[in-house]
Amino acid sequence: MFNVVIIGAGITGATLAERLAAIGKKVLIIEKRNHIGGNCFDYYDGSGILVPKYGPHFFHTDNERVWNYVGRFTDWHPYEHRVLAYVDKKFVPVPVNINTVNLVCGENIKNELEMKIWLKNNAEKITSPTNSEELALSRVGKKLYEKIFKGYTEKQWDKKAKDLSPSVIGRIPVKTNFDDRYFSDRYQAMPKDGYTTIFKNMLKSKNIVVRLKTDFLKIRNRIKKHQLFIFTGPIDRYFGYRFGPLEYRSLKFRYQTLDKEFYQSKAQINYPNDNKFTRITEPKHSTGQKSPITTIIREYPVWGNTPYYPVPSEKNHKIYREYEKEALRLEEKGIYFAGRLANYKYFNMDQAFKNALDLFDKINKKI
Ligand code: UDP
Repeated sequence: MFNVVIIGAGITGATLAERLAAIGKKVLIIEKRNHIGGNCFDYYDGSGILVPKYGPHFFHTDNERVWNYVGRFTDWHPYEHRVLAYVDKKFVPVPVNINTVNLVCGENIKNELEMKIWLKNNAEKITSPTNSEELALSRVGKKLYEKIFKGYTEKQWDKKAKDLSPSVIGRIPVKTNFDDRYFSDRYQAMPKDGYTTIFKNMLKSKNIVVRLKTDFLKIRNRIKKHQLFIFTGPIDRYFGYRFGPLEYRSLKFRYQTLDKEFYQSKAQINYPNDNKFTRITEPKHSTGQKSPITTIIREYPVWGNTPYYPVPSEKNHKIYREYEKEALRLEEKGIYFAGRLANYKYFNMDQAFKNALDLFDKINKKI
């Protein structure tokens, strides 16, 4: 009865389901959780505040196709993300910009040229950084690395920055001007009615059936052969951990509702050197919701069952490459692996949408 079975109702699963349903395929989505939307899922808490269940998500992209595609399922609330880090009892902008250097290093830099000279004099001369520590040192030097990146990274990953690929801290740019936006992408916004609504709209087609609270691996023998099978869960789990387990960093959240309009000045404040949590986020700043009360969320990185982040280390990449070889071999049988957990890559939301759209194009050419 179904032409396609998709495991997982996050960005990747929902995008492929939506696209395949649009060309007339009957799609079955099997989702372990009791809701759609993957880690983007949000909901109204007991106080009526729209909160994310699995941590903050700020939409940003330079990709026109992705922006137009997601825009078919939501109206947008304009929002540019700004982040402060609490360092030496001061709140300083992250990513590093001129004000960060002035506040943390006691400088008085006034323009881009002076900033470039400061960086040249203070950044370490490492031409090809091989890990996140070297990358940060080569970009901003020892003092800013130690004040802003070292502690946060160790808390977040439970690893030294030198044991993580340069791509981790490399996610955060360095600004040589006063631009204090976290992202530089052309399109930045939040979905007007939350992320869950996007997924509801994407999965509306009568060609799509979603089965929640169903762990595919427990029923895999009952799934018949289908023209197409797409897996978006953890790839090591699919293959029974035959090449060893991959690490996934997890998070715990502590929600607190406060009887005041706002708790902090920005949607996100990072605590690189204080506390056990990495950051406090306050959704009302980004969603634009009006309310006399507010909810804040403290984020505690943990090792645990719910996978959030693939851990970009040499050891994990080596293991992943073994799984990837197996996965590529299965493509000729119509079995595909896609998304953050199945590709074991630290994708942003827009990259996940883009990869799913690209995979749809590839599959569409074949069928
Ligand atoms: N990071 C840091 N200090 C900060 C912000 C980020 O050291 O104040 C490092 C840290 O290793 C983090 C990585 O940069 O895991 C990527 O940060 P991002 O904000 O992209 O993390 P996400 O929002 O995906 O958790």
